[in-house]
Amino acid sequence: MGTISLNKDVASFITSKQGLRIGSRQVETDGSIEVINPSNGKVLTEVARAGKTEVDLAVEAASRAFETGPWRTMGPDARSKVLWRFAELIEERADIFGQLDALDNGKPVNVARDVDAMWSARHIRYFAGWPDKIEGATIPVNIPDRLNYTLIEPVGVCGLITPWNYPLLMAAWKLAPALAAGNTVILKPSEETPLSALYLADLALEAGLPEGVLNVVPGLGAEAGAALAAHTRIAKIGFTGSTRTGRQIVVASKGNLKKVSLELGGKAANIIFADADLEKAIPGAFWANFGNNGQSCTAGCRLYVHSSIHDQVVSGLTEIADGLQVGPGFDDPPNDLGPVISERQMNMILGYVDGGRSDGAAVLTGGKRDTSEGWFIRPTIVADVTDDMKLARDEIFGPVISVLKFDDEEDVLKRANDTDYGLAAGLWSQDVTRVRRMAGRLQAGTIWVNCWGETDAASPFGGMKQSGYGREMGREAIALYSQTKSVWVA
Ligand code: NAD
Repeated sequence: MGTISLNKDVASFITSKQGLRIGSRQVETDGSIEVINPSNGKVLTEVARAGKTEVDLAVEAASRAFETGPWRTMGPDARSKVLWRFAELIEERADIFGQLDALDNGKPVNVARDVDAMWSARHIRYFAGWPDKIEGATIPVNIPDRLNYTLIEPVGVCGLITPWNYPLLMAAWKLAPALAAGNTVILKPSEETPLSALYLADLALEAGLPEGVLNVVPGLGAEAGAALAAHTRIAKIGFTGSTRTGRQIVVASKGNLKKVSLELGGKAANIIFADADLEKAIPGAFWANFGNNGQSCTAGCRLYVHSSIHDQVVSGLTEIADGLQVGPGFDDPPNDLGPVISERQMNMILGYVDGGRSDGAAVLTGGKRDTSEGWFIRPTIVADVTDDMKLARDEIFGPVISVLKFDDEEDVLKRANDTDYGLAAGLWSQDVTRVRRMAGRLQAGTIWVNCWGETDAASPFGGMKQSGYGREMGREAIALYSQTKSVWVA
């Protein structure tokens, strides 16, 4: 087993303490954030740490760029070209982004490069096509001699707060529609994974984004994140993260009643019916949960299996789990899965598994720390889980799947919907009538049928219930970052 060597640009990027990116400058701070490599638990590098003062500076830069800069007023074609170039640069430097995300997140380099970076580029390219399609309407009003029309305008300075599970991709999901609609933005990446966002800011300038349009301020949630959420000159917060933090953001945002959109946690139910094609359903259900090491808001972590096929599904899942390579993101050949993000998260995940054991669930494989160095847990299959166990109720956000039995469609539907979350759900069945019935009644923003995890820049994505509000992709994302003005002319 070898190791992928560090790209020289990546090596020099992590050698010095990276500053915040405000306007076209790097801004140093007294405080810093230690970035930890989850594959060995060691400090990888330090980056600047924004507090309220630096958030004020970023708001100043973004406001100036919004009010006086060319971004909002330039023709749509010019804005498209810059975004298109931005996407191209991400694709050209996918190797660098892959390595940066693999370093601080831990995911395998090939996944970070071929999935996270390439999807980020695709996402920005899709939104590069929007500026000349953001159009108002002429309204047929009843008052004579009056012309009424609408203008669709950007909202202003947007604060974008992102989590650590897909560092670059979550930033791209938010930046792309916000910028396409003509806003200026301040991005606060997770303190666990700030590297790719900082590099992204440099690339944005290279792509031709005017100074101050994209600012990046790594910082702690309680400091930089809270300062953004409360700032009265920020018009909108786009947030992805936990439901608990989402609630805090809503409270903090009330000072200026800023717009807020929230992509929050999940506890997705995935249901395998007796008539499913198990050749597809078993690996499909496995990766529905263990993709990104279970650290996905849409992870299919509550797996309901019809009792007639239960044993076959459970042994299939266990076989896949036991055949996988788990290890550092830079190993060559690549591992299938990396570490979990932090020691805290590892202990929390193992605590849930121990709790499940005491509640009477059966841990069939995994369920303990895998090496003495780094934060590794092998894929963990837990059977005999019941709906009342914490394993089945709380978002665990790690490589643990809970398998629950069912016999009846109406009963499993009720159980699947019995959660505060509503981000994703899915089912495996070859009965088209059942599929239609279930897809209509499952309470979730995304339903996957005989597949899992697909998203597309053009297809709306977001949560029902306490998984949040607002839809991130497609035309609905442009609406999130725009506001409508009605003009009457005599
Ligand atoms: P988190 O809520 O702890 O942190 C997310 C971001 O919010 C980070 O940048 C953090 O610094 C910031 N933050 C923390 N406290 C804050 C505060 N008081 N004010 C403002 N910002 C604050 O979440 P996490 O642990 O980074 O990510 C995991 C969570 O994200 C999971 O719940 C997961 O389901 C969710 N998630 C949701 C989606 C989605 O699209 N719905 C996608 C990915 C992750």
